[in-house]
Order: sequence, then structure tokens, then C-alpha cells
Amino acid sequence: MVSFETALIENSISELMLVPKSDIHTHGGKGGRIKYFAEWANTSIEASEQPFEDLIDMQNWFNSNIKIHDNSIVGYLKRVEAKRVEAAFAQAKEDNIVVLALSFGIGVIDDLGGIDKFISTLNYLNKTFAPETKYYPELSFSREDDVNEACDRLDEILSKNWFKSIDICGNELTKPIKNFQKIYRKAQGYGVKLKAHVGVYGK
Ligand SMILES: [Zn+2]
Repeated sequence: MVSFETALIENSISELMLVPKSDIHTHGGKGGRIKYFAEWANTSIEASEQPFEDLIDMQNWFNSNIKIHDNSIVGYLKRVEAKRVEAAFAQAKEDNIVVLALSFGIGVIDDLGGIDKFISTLNYLNKTFAPETKYYPELSFSREDDVNEACDRLDEILSKNWFKSIDICGNELTKPIKNFQKIYRKAQGYGVKLKAHVGVYGK
């Protein structure tokens, strides 16, 4: 096996995949291959022909090509969300990711049936699809979130001592980061790592 650096210089994806490595930031529902999900959904999903202009463009593509497969059939949303997470773990195994921080918003916790069911589903997917990968769960917030509502859910979620970090993503220009201070203070009390996206949308 060549080193990670050599594989990068040689632009060799296959060698890069072989090197044991960490992936310390992946959004839970977006970490898998399109093909993995499309085969399960029994459909074909074409990758975008053009490079994305920006993250808004990428999110729009995601909504109209991936999220479109969510629907309101009872129980289906739960299966489709779980399948996207399964795809992310399967990809981590294929890419030889030995340390993985996969992040989830509160909405996904609710879609998967609440915090206890969410934790058992995630533990199951980790154990089944990437058993050698050490998983560090991350709870993510959006700048668009209602801060009080999110803060009210924090004790219920972090008291399980399962999440190892929190993060905030979304458009930096939506709300001042100061609004989220109480979330970070509360999370700090649980001893989790505190992270934040910056410079993603805002210029
Ligand atoms: Zn991100």
C-alpha cells in the first residue's frame, strides 16, 4: 500500500481508498453513493452534468433528485432515511474510514422515531455496515433553526451521552451566531466537542 500522500500525488482513487483514514465531517444523509441508494429505491439517478455553482445549487439538486424519493407512505420516510445512512456507513467501509464523524439534525432523529430508536438504528447500521469504523456521532443545527425550540430538545438528546460533538451549518447570513450561544453553553455542559461551519454560504 502506498502512503496517503503518494496516492494523492498519483491521483489514485483506488490507492486512496486502501489507506486507513479518518473522515471527521460528513453530513449523515449525504455520505453514501448515489448508486447505492438508487439501486435500493429501484430507480436511476443521474449525477449532475454541470459542476454545482454553489451549495444552494447542490442542495436544490439534492432536493429534486434524491429527496424526491421521500414520500408520505406510512413508514417509508423512516426506511428511506435509514437507507441513506446505511449507504454512508457502507461507503465508509469501502473507503477504509476507520474514524467517522457523521452528523445529523434533530429532524432526522424525529424521522427515525425519536432519540432512543434513532440511537439503536444508528448503532445497528454502524455494527452491520461498517463494524471496524469507530463512529463519533455529531448533532448538527442549522442557522435557520428556531433557537429556542432547538435548545429545548438538547437535554433530552445529549443526556443519552451518545453524541460526541455539535455543529452548526447553513447560511451564515441568516441569523447572528450569537443567537446560538445558549445551545453551545448547554452542550458544553455535556462535555461534547463544539464545532461550527463558517464561510460556506456567506462571503
Ligand atoms: Zn458540512
